[in-house]
Amino acid sequence: MDSLHLQHNPADLDSLRPTTDASASFDEHEALKAILLAGSAHFDIQTVASISTRSPSFPLYTASIGSRDRQAPAVGFFGGIHGLERIGTQLILHYMRALLFRLEWDELLHQQLQQVRLVFMPLVNPGGMWAHKRANPNGVDLMRNAPQRAEQRVPFLAGGQTLSPLLPWYCGRPGAPMEAESAALLQVVRQQLASRPFSLALDCHSGYGFDDSIWFPYAKTRRLMAHLPEMFALKTMLERSHPHHAYSFEPQSNQYLLHGDLWDHAYDHAPPGNLFLPMTLELGSWLWIRKNPRQLFSRHGIFNPIKAHRTKRVLRRHSDLLDFLTRAAFAAPRWLPLAERRAQLMQLAMAHWRPRRTP
Ligand SMILES: [Zn+2]
Repeated sequence: MDSLHLQHNPADLDSLRPTTDASASFDEHEALKAILLAGSAHFDIQTVASISTRSPSFPLYTASIGSRDRQAPAVGFFGGIHGLERIGTQLILHYMRALLFRLEWDELLHQQLQQVRLVFMPLVNPGGMWAHKRANPNGVDLMRNAPQRAEQRVPFLAGGQTLSPLLPWYCGRPGAPMEAESAALLQVVRQQLASRPFSLALDCHSGYGFDDSIWFPYAKTRRLMAHLPEMFALKTMLERSHPHHAYSFEPQSNQYLLHGDLWDHAYDHAPPGNLFLPMTLELGSWLWIRKNPRQLFSRHGIFNPIKAHRTKRVLRRHSDLLDFLTRAAFAAPRWLPLAERRAQLMQLAMAHWRPRRTP
Protein backbone atom coordinates (compact mmCIF):
# COMPACT_ATOMS: atom_id res chain seq x y z
CA MET A 1 0.00 0.00 0.00
CA ASP A 2 1.19 3.50 -0.79
CA SER A 3 2.26 5.00 2.52
CA LEU A 4 0.97 8.39 1.37
CA HIS A 5 -2.54 7.13 1.90
CA LEU A 6 -2.09 5.84 5.42
CA GLN A 7 -4.65 7.26 7.82
CA HIS A 8 -6.32 9.26 5.07
CA ASN A 9 -9.50 8.45 3.26
CA PRO A 10 -9.43 8.76 -0.50
CA ALA A 11 -12.30 11.13 -1.24
CA ASP A 12 -15.53 9.69 -2.53
CA LEU A 13 -15.85 11.17 -6.02
CA ASP A 14 -19.62 11.38 -5.63
CA SER A 15 -19.11 13.92 -2.84
CA LEU A 16 -17.46 16.18 -5.45
CA ARG A 17 -20.59 16.63 -7.53
CA PRO A 18 -22.32 20.02 -7.34
CA THR A 19 -24.47 20.66 -4.27
CA THR A 20 -28.04 21.24 -5.39
CA ASP A 21 -29.13 23.20 -2.31
CA ALA A 22 -27.37 26.56 -2.76
CA SER A 23 -27.83 27.49 0.92
CA ALA A 24 -25.83 24.41 1.92
CA SER A 25 -22.70 25.46 0.05
CA PHE A 26 -20.78 28.48 -1.31
CA ASP A 27 -18.83 29.43 -4.43
CA GLU A 28 -15.32 28.52 -3.29
CA HIS A 29 -16.39 25.10 -2.02
CA GLU A 30 -18.19 24.36 -5.28
CA ALA A 31 -15.19 25.59 -7.29
CA LEU A 32 -12.84 23.36 -5.28
CA LYS A 33 -15.05 20.31 -5.85
CA ALA A 34 -15.28 21.04 -9.58
CA ILE A 35 -11.48 21.29 -9.85
CA LEU A 36 -10.98 18.07 -7.89
CA LEU A 37 -13.54 16.25 -10.01
CA ALA A 38 -11.97 17.51 -13.24
CA GLY A 39 -8.52 16.62 -11.93
CA SER A 40 -9.40 13.32 -10.28
CA ALA A 41 -7.20 11.40 -12.72
CA HIS A 42 -4.18 13.50 -11.70
CA PHE A 43 -4.67 14.44 -8.05
CA ASP A 44 -4.55 12.13 -5.05
CA ILE A 45 -7.64 13.47 -3.33
CA GLN A 46 -8.24 12.85 0.34
CA THR A 47 -10.79 13.77 2.94
CA VAL A 48 -8.89 14.58 6.12
CA ALA A 49 -11.81 15.67 8.33
CA SER A 50 -15.49 16.47 8.23
CA ILE A 51 -16.56 19.86 9.54
CA SER A 52 -20.05 20.34 10.94
CA THR A 53 -21.84 23.66 11.08
CA ARG A 54 -25.26 24.27 12.60
CA SER A 55 -26.62 23.10 9.24
CA PRO A 56 -24.49 21.57 6.43
CA SER A 57 -21.24 19.73 7.02
CA PHE A 58 -18.24 19.98 4.74
CA PRO A 59 -15.52 17.43 3.95
CA LEU A 60 -12.04 18.90 4.35
CA TYR A 61 -10.19 18.04 1.15
CA THR A 62 -6.54 17.82 0.25
CA ALA A 63 -5.20 17.16 -3.23
CA SER A 64 -1.65 16.12 -4.00
CA ILE A 65 0.21 15.65 -7.23
CA GLY A 66 3.74 14.81 -8.31
CA SER A 67 6.50 12.50 -7.12
CA ARG A 68 5.49 9.65 -4.81
CA ASP A 69 9.03 9.35 -3.47
CA ARG A 70 8.89 10.12 0.26
CA GLN A 71 12.32 11.76 -0.03
CA ALA A 72 11.26 14.14 -2.81
CA PRO A 73 10.91 17.81 -1.89
CA ALA A 74 7.37 19.13 -1.47
CA VAL A 75 5.42 22.36 -1.33
CA GLY A 76 2.12 22.78 0.50
CA PHE A 77 -0.38 25.49 -0.44
CA PHE A 78 -2.97 26.39 2.20
CA GLY A 79 -5.81 28.90 2.26
CA GLY A 80 -9.14 29.78 3.80
CA ILE A 81 -8.02 29.39 7.42
CA HIS A 82 -9.93 32.60 8.09
CA GLY A 83 -13.39 32.31 6.59
CA LEU A 84 -13.61 35.93 5.49
CA GLU A 85 -10.37 35.86 3.53
CA ARG A 86 -11.75 34.32 0.36
CA ILE A 87 -9.08 35.73 -1.91
CA GLY A 88 -6.47 33.35 -0.42
CA THR A 89 -8.61 30.33 -1.30
CA GLN A 90 -9.33 31.79 -4.74
CA LEU A 91 -5.61 32.26 -5.37
CA ILE A 92 -4.88 28.58 -4.77
CA LEU A 93 -7.91 27.43 -6.75
CA HIS A 94 -6.77 29.65 -9.63
CA TYR A 95 -3.34 28.00 -9.49
CA MET A 96 -4.79 24.46 -9.34
CA ARG A 97 -7.05 25.13 -12.30
CA ALA A 98 -4.16 26.48 -14.37
CA LEU A 99 -2.03 23.51 -13.32
CA LEU A 100 -4.60 21.08 -14.69
CA PHE A 101 -4.67 22.89 -18.03
CA ARG A 102 -0.88 23.01 -18.16
CA LEU A 103 -0.71 19.25 -17.61
CA GLU A 104 -2.18 18.86 -21.09
CA TRP A 105 0.85 20.36 -22.81
CA ASP A 106 3.58 21.56 -20.44
CA GLU A 107 6.39 19.04 -20.68
CA LEU A 108 8.57 21.01 -18.25
CA LEU A 109 5.82 20.84 -15.65
CA HIS A 110 5.68 17.06 -16.06
CA GLN A 111 9.44 16.88 -15.54
CA GLN A 112 9.15 19.04 -12.44
CA LEU A 113 6.40 16.84 -11.04
CA GLN A 114 8.55 13.76 -11.41
CA GLN A 115 10.79 15.17 -8.70
CA VAL A 116 8.63 17.39 -6.55
CA ARG A 117 5.31 16.90 -4.78
CA LEU A 118 2.62 19.57 -4.47
CA VAL A 119 0.05 19.40 -1.69
CA PHE A 120 -3.05 21.60 -1.79
CA MET A 121 -5.40 22.40 1.08
CA PRO A 122 -7.13 25.51 -0.25
CA LEU A 123 -10.10 25.66 2.09
CA VAL A 124 -9.14 24.88 5.66
CA ASN A 125 -12.17 26.54 7.29
CA PRO A 126 -15.20 25.78 5.09
CA GLY A 127 -17.63 26.19 8.01
CA GLY A 128 -16.38 29.73 8.62
CA MET A 129 -16.47 30.67 4.95
CA TRP A 130 -20.00 29.28 4.59
CA ALA A 131 -21.15 31.35 7.60
CA HIS A 132 -19.26 34.51 6.53
CA LYS A 133 -17.13 34.39 9.65
CA ARG A 134 -13.40 34.57 10.29
CA ALA A 135 -13.54 31.88 12.99
CA ASN A 136 -14.57 28.24 12.59
CA PRO A 137 -18.08 27.05 13.53
CA ASN A 138 -17.04 26.83 17.21
CA GLY A 139 -15.98 30.46 17.23
CA VAL A 140 -12.27 29.59 17.32
CA ASP A 141 -9.71 31.58 15.33
CA LEU A 142 -7.74 28.67 13.87
CA MET A 143 -4.58 30.76 13.52
CA ARG A 144 -4.62 31.23 17.33
CA ASN A 145 -5.49 27.62 18.14
CA ALA A 146 -2.14 25.83 18.62
CA PRO A 147 -1.26 25.18 22.27
CA GLN A 148 1.81 27.42 22.59
CA ARG A 149 1.67 30.87 24.23
CA ALA A 150 3.62 33.92 23.12
CA GLU A 151 6.72 34.64 25.18
CA GLN A 152 5.96 38.34 25.51
CA ARG A 153 2.96 40.60 25.51
CA VAL A 154 0.59 40.27 22.55
CA PRO A 155 -1.80 42.96 21.24
CA PHE A 156 -4.98 43.05 23.32
CA LEU A 157 -7.51 40.53 21.86
CA ALA A 158 -5.93 40.40 18.38
CA GLY A 159 -2.92 38.48 19.67
CA GLY A 160 -5.31 35.72 20.75
CA GLN A 161 -7.70 35.64 23.72
CA THR A 162 -9.21 32.91 25.90
CA LEU A 163 -12.06 35.02 27.29
CA SER A 164 -14.91 34.07 24.99
CA PRO A 165 -15.74 32.61 21.57
CA LEU A 166 -18.14 35.54 21.19
CA LEU A 167 -15.17 37.88 20.87
CA PRO A 168 -12.85 37.74 17.84
CA TRP A 169 -9.43 36.03 17.94
CA TYR A 170 -10.56 33.31 20.37
CA CYS A 171 -7.81 30.69 20.90
CA GLY A 172 -10.14 27.95 22.14
CA ARG A 173 -10.49 26.72 25.71
CA PRO A 174 -7.07 26.41 27.39
CA GLY A 175 -6.07 22.75 27.58
CA ALA A 176 -8.80 21.61 25.18
CA PRO A 177 -7.80 19.54 22.13
CA MET A 178 -7.18 21.55 18.98
CA GLU A 179 -10.08 22.15 16.61
CA ALA A 180 -10.65 19.55 13.86
CA GLU A 181 -9.46 21.96 11.14
CA SER A 182 -6.22 22.85 12.98
CA ALA A 183 -5.48 19.23 13.83
CA ALA A 184 -6.13 18.19 10.22
CA LEU A 185 -3.82 20.90 8.86
CA LEU A 186 -1.03 19.91 11.24
CA GLN A 187 -1.48 16.26 10.34
CA VAL A 188 -1.21 17.06 6.63
CA VAL A 189 1.97 19.02 7.35
CA ARG A 190 3.42 16.23 9.49
CA GLN A 191 2.64 13.40 7.08
CA GLN A 192 3.03 15.02 3.68
CA LEU A 193 5.53 17.86 4.17
CA ALA A 194 7.71 17.97 7.28
CA SER A 195 8.45 14.23 7.08
CA ARG A 196 10.58 14.91 4.00
CA PRO A 197 14.17 16.17 3.94
CA PHE A 198 12.97 19.45 2.36
CA SER A 199 9.57 21.10 2.19
CA LEU A 200 7.97 24.52 1.95
CA ALA A 201 4.50 25.76 2.83
CA LEU A 202 2.61 28.88 1.81
CA ASP A 203 -0.56 29.86 3.66
CA CYS A 204 -2.58 32.59 1.92
CA HIS A 205 -4.37 35.28 3.94
CA SER A 206 -5.60 38.82 3.38
CA GLY A 207 -6.51 41.84 5.37
CA TYR A 208 -3.37 43.18 6.95
CA GLY A 209 -1.77 46.49 6.05
CA PHE A 210 -0.93 48.23 2.78
CA ASP A 211 1.82 45.93 1.59
CA ASP A 212 1.80 42.39 0.38
CA SER A 213 3.81 40.58 3.01
CA ILE A 214 5.43 37.21 3.44
CA TRP A 215 5.83 36.27 7.07
CA PHE A 216 7.68 33.33 8.57
CA PRO A 217 8.03 32.02 12.15
CA TYR A 218 8.11 33.06 14.80
CA ALA A 219 4.86 34.66 15.85
CA LYS A 220 5.32 33.68 19.49
CA THR A 221 8.69 35.30 20.13
CA ARG A 222 11.07 37.93 18.80
CA ARG A 223 13.83 35.33 18.83
CA LEU A 224 14.88 34.48 15.29
CA MET A 225 14.23 31.04 13.80
CA ALA A 226 17.09 28.56 13.36
CA HIS A 227 16.76 28.44 9.57
CA LEU A 228 17.32 32.13 9.00
CA PRO A 229 20.03 31.61 6.32
CA GLU A 230 17.67 29.43 4.26
CA MET A 231 14.89 32.03 4.53
CA PHE A 232 17.32 34.76 3.56
CA ALA A 233 18.46 32.77 0.52
CA LEU A 234 14.83 32.26 -0.50
CA LYS A 235 14.02 35.96 -0.05
CA THR A 236 17.02 37.01 -2.13
CA MET A 237 16.13 34.56 -4.91
CA LEU A 238 12.53 35.79 -4.98
CA GLU A 239 13.58 39.43 -5.17
CA ARG A 240 16.10 38.81 -7.91
CA SER A 241 13.90 36.61 -10.07
CA HIS A 242 10.76 38.75 -9.64
CA PRO A 243 12.11 42.27 -9.15
CA HIS A 244 8.73 43.82 -10.06
CA HIS A 245 7.09 42.18 -7.05
CA ALA A 246 7.29 44.02 -3.80
CA TYR A 247 6.74 41.67 -0.92
CA SER A 248 7.91 42.69 2.48
CA PHE A 249 9.50 39.47 3.69
CA GLU A 250 10.14 39.16 7.42
CA PRO A 251 9.51 37.27 10.65
CA GLN A 252 5.89 37.60 11.76
CA SER A 253 7.16 38.93 15.10
CA ASN A 254 8.37 42.09 13.35
CA GLN A 255 4.69 43.00 13.03
CA TYR A 256 3.14 41.64 16.20
CA LEU A 257 3.27 38.60 18.45
CA LEU A 258 0.45 36.12 18.83
CA HIS A 259 -0.57 33.05 20.76
CA GLY A 260 -1.22 29.71 19.12
CA ASP A 261 0.09 30.30 15.57
CA LEU A 262 -0.23 27.00 13.67
CA TRP A 263 2.93 27.59 11.63
CA ASP A 264 5.05 28.21 14.72
CA HIS A 265 3.78 24.87 16.00
CA ALA A 266 4.37 23.05 12.71
CA TYR A 267 7.88 24.49 12.38
CA ASP A 268 8.85 23.59 15.95
CA HIS A 269 7.57 20.03 15.52
CA ALA A 270 9.31 19.26 12.23
CA PRO A 271 11.66 16.29 12.74
CA PRO A 272 15.20 17.46 13.49
CA GLY A 273 17.38 17.07 10.41
CA ASN A 274 14.51 17.86 8.05
CA LEU A 275 14.07 21.33 6.67
CA PHE A 276 10.49 22.62 6.73
CA LEU A 277 10.05 26.31 5.91
CA PRO A 278 6.51 27.66 6.35
CA MET A 279 5.48 31.07 5.08
CA THR A 280 2.29 33.11 5.31
CA LEU A 281 1.26 35.39 2.48
CA GLU A 282 -0.71 38.40 3.67
CA LEU A 283 -2.31 40.23 0.78
CA GLY A 284 -2.35 43.91 1.69
CA SER A 285 -6.02 44.67 1.34
CA TRP A 286 -5.94 48.19 2.76
CA LEU A 287 -4.67 49.09 -0.69
CA TRP A 288 -7.94 47.89 -2.22
CA ILE A 289 -9.88 49.95 0.29
CA ARG A 290 -7.94 53.08 -0.53
CA LYS A 291 -8.97 52.62 -4.14
CA ASN A 292 -12.57 51.85 -3.26
CA PRO A 293 -13.48 53.27 0.16
CA ARG A 294 -17.02 51.93 -0.05
CA GLN A 295 -15.51 48.52 0.71
CA LEU A 296 -15.17 49.66 4.29
CA PHE A 297 -18.90 49.16 4.69
CA SER A 298 -18.84 45.57 3.53
CA ARG A 299 -17.44 42.93 5.83
CA HIS A 300 -16.14 40.97 2.85
CA GLY A 301 -14.78 44.07 1.21
CA ILE A 302 -12.23 44.65 3.92
CA PHE A 303 -10.53 41.35 3.18
CA ASN A 304 -11.23 40.86 -0.50
CA PRO A 305 -10.98 43.01 -3.61
CA ILE A 306 -14.51 43.54 -4.86
CA LYS A 307 -14.20 44.64 -8.47
CA ALA A 308 -13.75 41.69 -10.81
CA HIS A 309 -10.79 43.18 -12.67
CA ARG A 310 -9.01 43.82 -9.38
CA THR A 311 -9.55 40.21 -8.26
CA LYS A 312 -8.12 38.99 -11.54
CA ARG A 313 -5.07 41.18 -11.13
CA VAL A 314 -4.46 39.89 -7.59
CA LEU A 315 -4.75 36.28 -8.74
CA ARG A 316 -2.44 36.81 -11.69
CA ARG A 317 0.20 38.70 -9.76
CA HIS A 318 0.55 36.22 -6.94
CA SER A 319 0.42 33.04 -9.04
CA ASP A 320 4.07 33.81 -9.82
CA LEU A 321 4.87 33.32 -6.14
CA LEU A 322 3.31 29.86 -6.10
CA ASP A 323 5.29 28.95 -9.18
CA PHE A 324 8.48 30.35 -7.69
CA LEU A 325 8.09 28.19 -4.57
CA THR A 326 7.52 25.07 -6.68
CA ARG A 327 10.74 25.79 -8.58
CA ALA A 328 12.61 26.56 -5.39
CA ALA A 329 11.59 23.20 -3.90
CA PHE A 330 12.52 21.38 -7.10
CA ALA A 331 15.93 23.05 -7.15
CA ALA A 332 16.66 22.99 -3.41
CA PRO A 333 20.05 21.21 -3.69
CA ARG A 334 21.24 24.02 -5.96
CA TRP A 335 20.61 26.88 -3.61
CA LEU A 336 20.50 25.59 -0.03
CA PRO A 337 23.49 27.24 1.63
CA LEU A 338 26.11 25.03 3.26
CA ALA A 339 29.06 25.49 5.61
CA GLU A 340 30.89 28.79 5.09
CA ARG A 341 28.22 30.23 2.81
CA ARG A 342 25.55 29.41 5.36
CA ALA A 343 27.53 31.15 8.09
CA GLN A 344 27.86 34.25 5.92
CA LEU A 345 24.15 34.29 5.15
CA MET A 346 23.41 33.94 8.86
CA GLN A 347 25.35 37.16 9.50
CA LEU A 348 23.53 39.00 6.71
CA ALA A 349 20.15 37.67 7.79
CA MET A 350 20.72 38.58 11.44
CA ALA A 351 21.66 42.12 10.45
CA HIS A 352 18.67 42.39 8.13
CA TRP A 353 16.03 40.96 10.49
CA ARG A 354 17.49 42.00 13.82
CA PRO A 355 14.58 41.91 16.31
CA ARG A 356 13.03 45.26 16.97
CA ARG A 357 13.06 46.42 20.51
CA THR A 358 10.06 45.52 22.61
CA PRO A 359 7.86 48.60 22.83
ZN1 LIG B 1 -5.95 35.49 7.97
